[in-house]
Amino acid sequence: MDEGMMTQDERRMGFGPEEGTQRGKGLYYVHTLGCQMNVHDSERIAGVLQAQGYRPASPEQVRARNVDLMVLNTCAVRENASKRMYGTIGRWARLKQENPTAQIAVGGCMAQKDRDRIARQAPWVDAVFGTKNIGDLPVLLERARRDRRSQVQVSDRLEAFPSDLPTVRASRSSAWVSVSVGCNNTCTFCIVPQVRGRERDRPIADVLAEVESCVAAGAREVTLLGQNVNSYGYSMGDRQAFPKLLRACGDIEGLDRVRFTSPHPAAFTDEVIAAMAETPNVMHQLHMPLQSGSDRILRAMRRSYRSKRFLSILDKVRSAMPDARITTDIIVGFPGESEEDFQETLDVVERSRFSSAFTFEYSPRPGTPAAAMDQVPKQVVQERFERLLALQERITQEELDAFVGRDVEVMITARQGRHDERTHRVTGRERGGVLVHVGVPQGLPVPAVGDLVTCTVTGVGKHYLTADPDPMRGQAYDIRG
Ligand code: SF4
Repeated sequence: MDEGMMTQDERRMGFGPEEGTQRGKGLYYVHTLGCQMNVHDSERIAGVLQAQGYRPASPEQVRARNVDLMVLNTCAVRENASKRMYGTIGRWARLKQENPTAQIAVGGCMAQKDRDRIARQAPWVDAVFGTKNIGDLPVLLERARRDRRSQVQVSDRLEAFPSDLPTVRASRSSAWVSVSVGCNNTCTFCIVPQVRGRERDRPIADVLAEVESCVAAGAREVTLLGQNVNSYGYSMGDRQAFPKLLRACGDIEGLDRVRFTSPHPAAFTDEVIAAMAETPNVMHQLHMPLQSGSDRILRAMRRSYRSKRFLSILDKVRSAMPDARITTDIIVGFPGESEEDFQETLDVVERSRFSSAFTFEYSPRPGTPAAAMDQVPKQVVQERFERLLALQERITQEELDAFVGRDVEVMITARQGRHDERTHRVTGRERGGVLVHVGVPQGLPVPAVGDLVTCTVTGVGKHYLTADPDPMRGQAYDIRG
């Protein structure tokens, strides 16, 4: 799941209760940029800090800059990652002017990539820590305080799997569990292999033990995370490890929903499809990055599948799971992309009928092979992007329209927002991952976060559904606590 796929609530981390937070060793706030991996890493940063006596700041305390430690967990994948990072730490410099004992730490992929440069360019940053150094953060902060200078610790080798670190989970009902870190592929546009390193898989017993402990702590949904979940187990000599893991999750009592992200089309096997279809608690949701519909461009991207193979996987998935909800990522204007190549992308998108797509205008990431290739002019990229967006928006809308009148099972994640008292709505996701705002019928109980509500869809918004069921007219509204 990409950053754009998550609601503010799902990204919320580093906030304590609304009021009355105890100060402990100091109040901390973690600001996360990027994907689900980063959001999950922030849960570990919070866990490590809380284990050392730090306490989460409340939203009011963050707004009032009444905070002792600000942590920025950065992303190198997005465009302008560097600008975004230096911009944020520039604004945070004011915190140090107002409160000289407060500390600032920067972690994540940009910290891994830029290392000492951050401390040179922003000397007010107390600690820079790599993606494999989350556990070192408290010691770095301590040293920075003692020595009165920036501390940088960025390892290229993973000593201990980060999931072994203490974790403070943002949501009790939905948990993320890492199955692997890093990636062995070499897509020419991607910076991930450089900042996250080669793939390291976690033993299946460890993954299952963590899933079980999340369920024991109240989770009903688990999302298995890896840069490339299909190659999970390859490094341990077991090419069937991922389907085995999915089936084993099916045996965990109390686990209602299992999701995973992201698979790579090259290694998406029939066994994975069978495990998804035959394991009742594995959701029929698939985020399958296409990137381009042109085989020539896929080759230039060093993506090892071709469009025919991609489409045949979708056919197999849909014949095993007709209700499968499939989303994707597409890059427009990769170096050398011709109008003909782009037309091939449009054709594949039309045939794939993705529920939604994350479409990106290509922009070079310094340090990647594609950054040195011949670039497509910006206005050409933009014009193609708009055509692709219009096509996908039409398909997304048609796919959402098909929900109206159907009963869906929604796991509640939050109250809808500021207007929830007026609209009397709660928000959650249906089995395929679509956001649903559920209106609570007058006089009926309001579901709690984590409850499953079966309700009839009555309307469609832009990228979400609404369900305002009227039980008097035979529409469903049933809560399973
Ligand atoms: S599969 Fe390709 S795009 Fe995905 S993380 Fe690995 S190198 Fe990057």
